Amino acid sequence: SNEEAAAKAAADTADSGAPTIFDKIIAKEIPSTIVYEDEKVLAFRDINPQAPVHVLIIPKIRDGLTQLGKAELRHADILGHLLFAAKLVAEKEGIVDGFRVVINNGAEACQSVYHLHLHVIGGRQLKWPPG
Ligand code: IMP
Repeated sequence: SNEEAAAKAAADTADSGAPTIFDKIIAKEIPSTIVYEDEKVLAFRDINPQAPVHVLIIPKIRDGLTQLGKAELRHADILGHLLFAAKLVAEKEGIVDGFRVVINNGAEACQSVYHLHLHVIGGRQLKWPPG
């Protein structure tokens, strides 16, 4: 039934803790366009950009951070590091005067990859509220 299909689709986008495509990007097993990297985080262009600038920033070690809703106090340092990296990326991309940082958490927020990531979006007039 349609209902069953919808339930299955939702289940497929839930947090299973399985490895994700971002592990392969970190390992450079699949190519990405890296815009910023340090010892803790990697920033690369989204494959399906929603704006002229659309960069994803991820922790290199997931450490249980499949989604923001799973964060624990021990993650505070990496969470701060990710947010600061968003500012560095915005500067590098020339959008520091107008940009958005988004974290989709869970299926209802359309999270599709269960390895925490910040979206840095800009380079055009953004609308509010988001969809
Ligand atoms: P989410 O929907 O917030 O989980 O965002 C996942 C993002 O990852 C989406 O915007 C996708 O376009 C992006 N994405 C998925 N696979 C790849 C890839 O292989 N390279 C770059 N971006 C990807």
